[in-house]
Amino acid sequence: LDASLTQSSKMAALGKLAAGVAHEVNNPLAIIMEKAGWMRDLLGEEDIKASPNFQEFEDAVAKIEFHVRRAKDVTHRLLGFARRMEPTQEDIDVNLLLDQTRSFLENEASFRGITFLSDYQKDLPRIASDTSQLQQVFLNIMDNAIDAIDKNGSITVTTRAAPDVPEVEIVIADTGKGMSKEAMAKIFDPFFTTKKVGEGTGLGLTISYSIIKKLGGRIEVTSEEGRGTAFHITLPVGA
Ligand code: ADP
Repeated sequence: LDASLTQSSKMAALGKLAAGVAHEVNNPLAIIMEKAGWMRDLLGEEDIKASPNFQEFEDAVAKIEFHVRRAKDVTHRLLGFARRMEPTQEDIDVNLLLDQTRSFLENEASFRGITFLSDYQKDLPRIASDTSQLQQVFLNIMDNAIDAIDKNGSITVTTRAAPDVPEVEIVIADTGKGMSKEAMAKIFDPFFTTKKVGEGTGLGLTISYSIIKKLGGRIEVTSEEGRGTAFHITLPVGA
């Protein structure tokens, strides 16, 4: 079976479910959060502070708040994904957009000893596409690259015009830990994550995949365990 076909039908099914589930889950979450707020207020009262169980009570409130925020993050991402906004057609300088995106992550990267390198085609054709959706994809991929490297390494961003067709190619390659064949087969699946609880939702690449599809492009991954990973994105020059 064509892998991308399976992926599209997974997307369609998830898209339909997502909005309904997100709304249903958001209501109880709002109530839990409100009650947690009330409990947090109680923590400031003298008789509660004097209780031998104060520390446990405070920890429990913090846990409730933390996990509700996590769940809210998931429902927000699901809603954004389900909305499937019609992409805009702006006139985009891809090299510039990549530089702008990486500037958001420069602090975090340099703090961890990670260098951004670029190998841009100077006269890259401009493309007609959706700036903010593309930026979301680049951000997700660069963010994952930083996580995969953890400390000391580099992220190389390459751009090229495709040789025979009106398309541009973007490669974002990292020197991180790479991934197994098993993981590679699942990275675009909803909720697949190898990150710690609270650090990953497993939705970043699912959403990235659906955005690139919607923009008429393709996204592929190559990876070698212990050596690094590269995401290859192809976008139509369009309009
Ligand atoms: P999340 O980042 O929340 O885990 P993603 O959908 O963005 O969700 O990524 C899913 C998983 O794909 C990650 O948990 C990680 O295991 C794997 N992955 C993504 N990018 C990379 C990368 N550059 N190097 C190694 N593994 C990666």
